[in-house]
Amino acid sequence: PLVLGIETSCDETAAALVDGEGRIFANVVLSQIEDHAPFGGVVPEIAARAHLDHLQPVIDRALRDAEVGFEDLDAVAATGGPGLIGGVLVGTMTAKAIAMARGIPYLAVNHLEAHALTARLTDHVPFPYLLLLVSGGHCQLISVEGLGKYRRLGTTIDDAVGEAFDKTAKLLGMGYPGGPELERAAARGNPERFDLPRPMVGKPGCDFSFSGLKTAVRQKVTALGEPCEQDIADIAAAFQEAVAASLVNRSRNAVRIFAQEHGKGHALVVAGGVAANKRLRAALSALAEKSGMDFVAPPIGLCTDNAAMVAWAGIERLRAGEVDSLDFAPRPRWPLDPVAPKAIGAGV
Ligand code: ATP
Ligand code: MG
Ligand code: FE
Repeated sequence: PLVLGIETSCDETAAALVDGEGRIFANVVLSQIEDHAPFGGVVPEIAARAHLDHLQPVIDRALRDAEVGFEDLDAVAATGGPGLIGGVLVGTMTAKAIAMARGIPYLAVNHLEAHALTARLTDHVPFPYLLLLVSGGHCQLISVEGLGKYRRLGTTIDDAVGEAFDKTAKLLGMGYPGGPELERAAARGNPERFDLPRPMVGKPGCDFSFSGLKTAVRQKVTALGEPCEQDIADIAAAFQEAVAASLVNRSRNAVRIFAQEHGKGHALVVAGGVAANKRLRAALSALAEKSGMDFVAPPIGLCTDNAAMVAWAGIERLRAGEVDSLDFAPRPRWPLDPVAPKAIGAGV
């Protein structure tokens, strides 16, 4: 089937056309970074207005790129949450209107599920697999057991990892979003010069914590007074190294739990915007190799927010015989696993 995907949950207005074989015929991502940059973060009202202004032209552009029209669509899938409600509303209303006008199925896609299934679009990864979801709003280890079957092994007890990158970047005087700029600075830095804590390393379980690391960076910056460019690069490198060490340590515990349940030979998958980070990809790849797992990381443009992953999640759900009602109400909060089992992973 040819599916139109729509993504409007944060600060990217995106539309894509994908078919059942995972061929991406169009993948348009319009970033609102410039609209939000003066404010140092995403402003919900500005985002909602920008989605309203840009979504139609973005969809038109995707159809033109793919050389198809609305009449060629077999279904339309839009992010239905979680995210900023104004943007999700714009995408949802637009998708419903197209579905109604064309008489085709509508799918309300969970944005996290779209990140989670991207590795199946790009690399045809079979279920089950172990997923590290690292994005602007989330940091979770998930056992992906099938479509709609997501078991959370661990999550962050304070900040999401992308949030930690963005806040730390801000402390270092960088713009928004800080992740990519912090990575560029880290490449010029010495990770050994500053001693930063490696959160949760050595603790049992698979949960994460990043607020202490952020505070430690603030103290270093304050102590330096006016950090020079090299100071900033060195702190950035130490921060990135600490995050990688923490993520790898938590993932190692998750690998053990996952292997107990599913045996060996499965994949370790990383997804979400922070999965664009090269140091992190290398560290996780090494862990996978040591653990006898395949390592799968989608290309960077499919790690950060996009609509191809939304279309793909729609395709997977369509295949499973699922469609959504046009009564679907956008969900600002929408966990992947309805009941989060707190005790899982304890004692490992
Ligand atoms: P969520 O998916 O949790 O709803 P989101 O959609 O806002 O949140 P994504 O677009 O998946 O998040 O990821 C954006 C985050 O990824 C930002 O915090 C950004 O700083 C971070 N990020 C992007 N590129 C990199 C990079 N190269 N290194 C580190 N972090 C990065
Ligand atoms: Mg974004
Ligand atoms: Fe996202």
